[in-house]
Amino acid sequence: MRRVVVAIDGPAAAGKSTVAKIVAKKLGYTYIDTGAMYRAYTWYCMEKGVDCEDHDACIVFVNEITIELKADGTVLCNNIDVTRAIREPRVSANVSYIASYKEIRLFLVEQQRKLAASTSVIMDGRDIGTYVLPDADVKIYQIASVETRAVRRYEENISKGIECTLEEIELDVRKRDYIDSHRDFAPLKCAADAITLDTSYMSIDEVVDAIIEIINKKIKELEEKDA
Ligand code: C5P
Repeated sequence: MRRVVVAIDGPAAAGKSTVAKIVAKKLGYTYIDTGAMYRAYTWYCMEKGVDCEDHDACIVFVNEITIELKADGTVLCNNIDVTRAIREPRVSANVSYIASYKEIRLFLVEQQRKLAASTSVIMDGRDIGTYVLPDADVKIYQIASVETRAVRRYEENISKGIECTLEEIELDVRKRDYIDSHRDFAPLKCAADAITLDTSYMSIDEVVDAIIEIINKKIKELEEKDA
């Protein structure tokens, strides 16, 4: 069977990881949540008591941080289970500063490319189709209105027992989108060859089906080319 590489990018809380996880399970691919890596790095800076807006103080940790994404979704940072902590609003509020530092991006991108090197993968993030895996077989740019995204993230947090308000989440989503799309290095943007999927009025199942259809169509095209 041919190896397939799928990149899913898009703004905050567009539902990328929810659907990517399901699609990966259905197709037997490895799912790689790159946002979790930036979140883990942010969590570590906060644990160290460092201001995440202080570039110089944050980049030094590339020398001592290890981040591991387990197959069951557990995220380890220097062997500490941070799976839940990295979803807290205080981490969300700071992660876009950390993600704007080139040194930290280069450090994490190297690991992301290694993780995607040998198996079929679905990787989600902001710069996967444009920078991390520019040769991905399938590129999807998943969007939804900011209001829809805020409600989705609010409900997800509440179901996980993470305290927050809808207003706080909407502000966070707007702020992160702004910083993520305006940074100099590998900003959030739609790759020229990506398929845009507006999921504002789609259910999770509908998005999953649409993505699987796009992947299957691409595999067929590639197999026809190979034949
Ligand atoms: O995907 P998630 O919302 O968990 O990502 C958290 C943050 O990590 C984003 O707002 C963005 O600042 C950063 N990120 C990034 N590039 C990626 C993945 C995430 O800059 N590939």
